[in-house]
Amino acid sequence: MNSPSAATANIGVVGLAVMGSNLARNLASREGNTVAIFNRSPEKTDALVAEHPEANFVATKSYAEFAAALQKPRAALIMVQAGKGTDAVIDELVKVFEPGDIIVDGGNALFTDTIRREAAVRATGINFVGAGISGGEEGALNGPSIMPGGSDESWVTLGPILKSIAAIAEGEPCVTHVGHDGAGHFVKMIHNGIEYADMQLIAEAYDLIRRGTGKTPAEIADIFAEWNRGELESYLIEITAEVLRQVDAETGKPLVDVILDQAGSKGTGVWTVQTALDLGIPVSGIAEAVFARSLSSKPLQRAAAGNLPGPEVHPVADADAFIDDVRQALYASKIVAYSQGFDAIVAGAEQYGWNIQKGEIAKIWRGGCIIRASFLNRITESYADDPGLVSLITAPFFRGVVTRTHDAWRRVVAAAAVSGIPAPAFSSSLSYYDGLRAERLPAALVQGQRDFFGAHTYQRVDKEGTFHTLWSGDRSEVSATDSH
Ligand code: NAP
Repeated sequence: MNSPSAATANIGVVGLAVMGSNLARNLASREGNTVAIFNRSPEKTDALVAEHPEANFVATKSYAEFAAALQKPRAALIMVQAGKGTDAVIDELVKVFEPGDIIVDGGNALFTDTIRREAAVRATGINFVGAGISGGEEGALNGPSIMPGGSDESWVTLGPILKSIAAIAEGEPCVTHVGHDGAGHFVKMIHNGIEYADMQLIAEAYDLIRRGTGKTPAEIADIFAEWNRGELESYLIEITAEVLRQVDAETGKPLVDVILDQAGSKGTGVWTVQTALDLGIPVSGIAEAVFARSLSSKPLQRAAAGNLPGPEVHPVADADAFIDDVRQALYASKIVAYSQGFDAIVAGAEQYGWNIQKGEIAKIWRGGCIIRASFLNRITESYADDPGLVSLITAPFFRGVVTRTHDAWRRVVAAAAVSGIPAPAFSSSLSYYDGLRAERLPAALVQGQRDFFGAHTYQRVDKEGTFHTLWSGDRSEVSATDSH
């Protein structure tokens, strides 16, 4: 163990629960890093030092000691309970740090909190960086995907340190300076939203195959393992096969059949949808995934289960053909989820003034994080080919995928409806796609209704201007350009 009396550490970690201690160990294992550690309860600090002598941690027992152990400009990574815990630690660090030093919040903070904290800390001359860190405990230890925001000045010091611990994908570290203030936590939030959609889509695919073909979870595990060797290759498909193959030791049943069918959440999916609603961006696939978790956890569904009429499941005529249709529907719906997520990133960047490189974001999600997938390369390439791309789904590669998959997608959504199998993410993604490609939407009628009851006016397809029909009068049309 290093002595805390001299400033020997180039990075510090505050908060030594599972995430903080794994990140501290990851940092300490990389060439050139010396890591100072601090935890509110000193027992955790002592335990970590005792369990990992190889890390040569600089153990500190007060914030003053922690600051003294760090080389200038000091850099500290906070990994404490999000919310009040983060604010409490920031308050303490600000007292012992100096202008130019850097405080990094690696917890799951709401990006608007990060914007608030960044402004408050910046006023003291200290840099504040909100960094999204994905990959859970295992990623923290072996290489996460890291999404830091904050100032350019802080990136100069932090960049090499974060690159040293990030996951590596195709030779490149999965970290980039996402943008200023809350940009990192914003992008991490969208990452989690996409993760919700991806998980829900996979769950729907499993349910459709199981109920449509009668295959067992173990057989479906083989199907997912096979899919993982193709264009759907991803961490989530890989772990789905593992979960489906697992047998419960106590009952001998597939584990998936003994797990209570209620999916929990920690809130980042809800944040994504709330934020997208505020930005006016349809993230319907992500929203359906969040709602599907709420439906599974509510007494509402428990009360109605088995109590409402519906069709018998129609067994599919050709199981292999149906399974391949589901695979294609999954791929197309997944593209919608990513496309919607990137739409939200574009809108967020515009609203908050961040210069976010979309292709770089797809790159840093290729390793370390939960949504890592081989097709992320295609997203990077699509943005490289056309930086002004309005919707990812219109890029030639993705357009090509939906061109060849949309018939299968429709068959699957239709089969789900006919058999009464809920597939909210599959169907809403398809509706979104059809809405996008429609040359004319029934929004014209909605605008007519709005004009009828609220004189909200409308524009015409055939001439410039804003108009209103005198619905309560002679129903003639008047120009509303001047009065509205
Ligand atoms: P946690 O259970 O969220 O928090 C426990 C840590 O917070 C302990 O070190 C605790 O200190 C400290 N703490 C709480 N209140 C404090 C206060 N007022 N002042 C000082 N320290 C305080 O820990 P975690 O599970 O390791 O998560 C850390 C962060 O990472 C959270 O923001 C969490 O949301 C995020 N996280 C991310 C992932 C991911 O995949 N990226 C996974 C899990 C968690 P004591 O020991 O003294 O109680």
